[in-house]
Parts: sequence; C-alpha cells; structure tokens
Amino acid sequence: MKSKTKTALPREAGAVLDALRGASRLLITSHVNPDGDAVGSVLALATLARSLGVQSVTCCMQDPVPRVYEWLAESGYIEPPGRLHGPFDTVLIADANSISRTGLAASLVTQESCLVVVDHHIVEQPDWHVGFVDPSYAATGEMVAELFEAAGVPLTHEVAECLYVAISTDTGSFRYANTTARSHRIAARLVDAGINIRDITSKVIDLMSLGKFQLLRILLDRAELSKDGSIAHAAILDKDLSTAGALSEDVDGLINYLRNLEGVQLAILFREAGATSTKVSFRSQPEINSSEIARHFGGGGHAMAAGATLPWPLDEAKSMLFHYLRQTLRMQP
Ligand code: AMP
Ligand code: MN
Ligand code: MN
Repeated sequence: MKSKTKTALPREAGAVLDALRGASRLLITSHVNPDGDAVGSVLALATLARSLGVQSVTCCMQDPVPRVYEWLAESGYIEPPGRLHGPFDTVLIADANSISRTGLAASLVTQESCLVVVDHHIVEQPDWHVGFVDPSYAATGEMVAELFEAAGVPLTHEVAECLYVAISTDTGSFRYANTTARSHRIAARLVDAGINIRDITSKVIDLMSLGKFQLLRILLDRAELSKDGSIAHAAILDKDLSTAGALSEDVDGLINYLRNLEGVQLAILFREAGATSTKVSFRSQPEINSSEIARHFGGGGHAMAAGATLPWPLDEAKSMLFHYLRQTLRMQP
C-alpha cells in the first residue's frame, strides 16, 4: 500500500511539542485586545497541552474574551491576570511573541521558566527559548492545527471550532492576501471534524451588535480622505463608545470600511485610549507596507495589516504619524 504523504513540519514544531511534554505548570496567553486568532489558538493549545499530559494548564489574558467568541468551549476558563498564581515552569505565548505584547507582568517569566512562542508575526529580535514562528502562516490557528497533526492528537469538534474561528477571522473568511492553499487544506480538516461553517460565520463574522452599528455610523461620519484619495483615516474617541453603547471590542474590523474604499491604499484608524495614549491600526494595499509604518512607532503586525500604540494623546499622535508619512514616505495624508 502506498504510504500517506505528509508535508514535513519544521523542526520548531517538534521542539514546541517537546517543551509542552516537559511542562508541568503551564501558562498559555496571547496579546492584549485578543482577536479570534488569539482566543481560538489559546483554547486549542490548552486542549493540546492536556492531551500531551501537562498536569496544570492555566489560560490567561490581559483583556476579556470578546463577546463574539464567548460561545467557544472553555472560553470561560480564560482567566484575568488578577487571579494568576505563579510560578509557571512553562509560559506559552500564541499569536504574539513577547511578554510585553501580552500585557502581563514580565516577572511571570522567571529565570527557571521556559518561554515558548507559537506565532505568525514578523519578529526582528527573537527572545524566547522555544519558538515555532513563521509569517507564511495566515493565522496562528493554522500553526496550532499543524501541532495537533504532528502530535497525532485528533481534532475534536470543539477544537476544530476554535481553530476555524482563528483562521477565518485572520483571513477575513479566506479572502485576504495571506490566505494560502494550506489555509484551505487545514480548513478542510476542520470541516471533516464536523464543524458547521454557516453557524460559525454567522456568529463571528456576519453578526453586528447594535453598539457596533452605532459606532460604525460615527466612524463613517468622521472619515476623511486625503486629497488624492489614497489615504483614508478616522478617529474613534473614548466618549464614542458610550454614545454608541458599544464595547471596546466593537472597534475590531471597522477599519475595513476605510480600507475597502475605492482608490484607498492606506487606511488608518486612530483610537483614543485615555489622555496619553492612542492606538493606531493600519490596513494597506500591497504597495504600502503597514508593518514598516507600525514598527517605526514601536508596534508591529503584517505587511497589509498592522498596529501600534502611540504614547501621545490623539491630536499629537495624529500629527506625529502624518509628519512621518509626509517626510519619510512622501505621502500626503
Ligand atoms: P489591529 O489593527 O489591532 O487589528 O492589528 C493588526 C495586526 O497588527 C495584528 O496582527 C496585530 O497583532 C498587530 N498589532 C497591532 N498592534 C500591535 C502592537 N502594538 N505591536 C505589535 N503588533 C501589533
Ligand atoms: Mn491576533
Ligand atoms: Mn493572528
């Protein structure tokens, strides 16, 4: 009989599995303001770790699980940082690659602990003990699916739902440029595990809360276009959330309305975050590297989707960014 051909997984994936097998008190976390990839990957990794025999698995995130993902099995076990009881011999970060991006205390990773990273973001200075990091994956959830495969752990229905949420949110339902044949192959395995695509998509992609709808109205009203129409930007103020009856997580995805405008090459969404800080999101066409702009301001991300948190109030953040775009990139916002 012909043997089943299997794509070889990178050595790094095996090293992550070895690190998990050697863990006894494991902490799994992800980035601040978690998205579908963060939540789905963390939950699936928790199941994988338990299947590999890890005695104690704790999932923790700085910010709450957004409401749209609360239905995922065991999402209620993701704890807020206040309840954490260290030390952990192994700390696993998914969909991010530094403890600073998790918002958790750096002291959680002690001299004795092993820092493991599973992530698909571009990294300039790797700073972990064991890492499976590869920007060619569209979502961390794809990498987690590969880890299940490599470990020979079957995908349960619940895990498949987590991973489908992770992959479909990070690929914009398999429409973004990051989507590959591999994304579809992995998704096919998830469908084989019995997930209901229609049900998941309707819950996490299509459904819009009334608060988000009102916030979108505010954003569209404030949207500004550069003279040549290539840059679209808008700002969401702190007070907008209460005006709209929206939650912080409702900001997620609104930038797409700017990015999808005809002629727009760079979309920028400013989000006031208190009096001294502004979060900025970037979405771009392939001609413009969002990640480079974000990295200039201490952030990161991908070539066509990136973000940064600027240590200035909204007006100052805007003028610093626009100055950079004019001076360095010769753009006219
Ligand atoms: P967002 O604009 O928040 O949806 O983020 C777009 C992409 O950029 C995601 O992959 C984020 O993980 C990444 N990103 C956003 N903010 C930061 C940051 N401050 N540092 C590093 N990566 C970020
Ligand atoms: Mn993410
Ligand atoms: Mn991701």
